[in-house]
Amino acid sequence: MYISTRDNWPEISAALAIKLGMVPQGGLFVPTYIPSFPLERLKDLLAASYQELAQAILEPYLDDYAAEEIRELVGRAYNNNSFGSDAITPLVSLAEDLHILELWHGPTAAFKDIALQLMPHLLSRAVQKVGSGKDTVILVATSGDTGKAALEGFKDVPGTRIIVFYPHQGVSKIQELQMTTTTGNNTHVVGVKGNFDDCQTAVKSIFGDREFARLLAERGYELSSANSINWGRLLPQLVYYFSAYVQLVRQGRLTFGDKINFVVPTGNFGNILAGWYASRMGLPVNKLICASNENKVLTDFFATGVYDRRRPFKQTISPSMDILISSNLERFLYEMNGRDGKVVNGWLTGLQEEGIFSVDLQTKEAMDEVMWGGFATEEETLATIEHTFKEKGYTLDPHTAVGVKVYHDYRKNTGDTSPTVVVATASPFKFNASVLKAIAGDEAVKGLDEFAMLGELARLTGLPIHPGLMGLDQKEVRHHRLGTKDQVPAQVLDILGVE
Ligand SMILES: *Cc1c(COP(=O)(O)O)cnc(C)c1O
Repeated sequence: MYISTRDNWPEISAALAIKLGMVPQGGLFVPTYIPSFPLERLKDLLAASYQELAQAILEPYLDDYAAEEIRELVGRAYNNNSFGSDAITPLVSLAEDLHILELWHGPTAAFKDIALQLMPHLLSRAVQKVGSGKDTVILVATSGDTGKAALEGFKDVPGTRIIVFYPHQGVSKIQELQMTTTTGNNTHVVGVKGNFDDCQTAVKSIFGDREFARLLAERGYELSSANSINWGRLLPQLVYYFSAYVQLVRQGRLTFGDKINFVVPTGNFGNILAGWYASRMGLPVNKLICASNENKVLTDFFATGVYDRRRPFKQTISPSMDILISSNLERFLYEMNGRDGKVVNGWLTGLQEEGIFSVDLQTKEAMDEVMWGGFATEEETLATIEHTFKEKGYTLDPHTAVGVKVYHDYRKNTGDTSPTVVVATASPFKFNASVLKAIAGDEAVKGLDEFAMLGELARLTGLPIHPGLMGLDQKEVRHHRLGTKDQVPAQVLDILGVE
């Protein structure tokens, strides 16, 4: 069963938590207890496939889904077809103690696919189990990566329609074409003349509009959300932490039972939080290392215990980490302060009203036990891509490069030489301009458009272009909607044919 991080909602089942997305009056759903996964069980799974691991880890969290049902959905989400290999999340070693877990082999070339290939199935089944028989309309505001991953995940899922809003001139050409060329008869994409905040604010205000919900309900529609505060998006991410561990043991690089570190390039705190749940279940983890770019709210928070978002927002070359309010931190705070929802509520209210809160000493100490924070500047990120390419022959995307830089800082600062896995969140081809500049200099990108850059990066690195990014300039653009932020509600009604 699931409860609220702010003690303001009754216990509910997994299906209902996934259908609701978040607690309607604020708060996130968390499991009433965290199931343990003893080492002996993990040992039995050393030879298991990714799908078998997923089955074992997801089952205890999904009481109202049958084991057979989970097996079916996991099989549909993770396969050779969607992820290009049986490993799903392959592990590559750069040094004896430094390994990269590649999470970007899914259809859209970023790690969001791991959650969004499974979550739509979990949600559509949840609606069948606890729903009202209405069609579910998924509204998504995206700064680039989530939109395409959600479109691919929900494409042709029965009983669902998905509408994605993106900032018209605020995403890369590749990201825009990824979205506007999406097929499927239930997908809709709308460009908004404004920035990501405008999209997000417009979508959030629809969720809070009861009259709008009533109008849709009359026509047989119900709204839901696919963003990362939904438990159904967090849960699938636990699996690859176990997979990384098992792969290290299998490759003879780790003695079973020894502890490892994970470095996670972080934005909304969903990915690293999944790592924390994995360690709480019993995965042998020494430290979780939270890597930020110049928007280093979290680095400062873990150093001081004060969360202060009152600072300028910086646009960086790792845009998916450009975030000052990390939504999923709320779940971590709840666990770290001994599950006191009233106190969590106070902190989050402070953040909303004043832009700042600070935790008590005990909570700070609990966090220090498991977490270490660091960051990388823009120059350091580019330099890390360059060194890693020249010295190891491995090509990092800017997000993952932030992680590798912070790994080196962590080692220097603590002397800890435990084997460490850096979680790679995007294919270098998805952020090709920055990667090309880093490895071949500013001159290398002069006069090239993004498609020419894909070819140039492939030539320089010898890597195949990610299939999800290939031939985009040849595909038919199927979505042409464009409007202002004020027209967002009218766009939704028009798409659904509601007058
Ligand atoms: C979303 C994203 C992140 C941040 O992940 P969180 O779960 O929000 O912390 C990092 N890198 C890439 C490439 C992403 O798309």
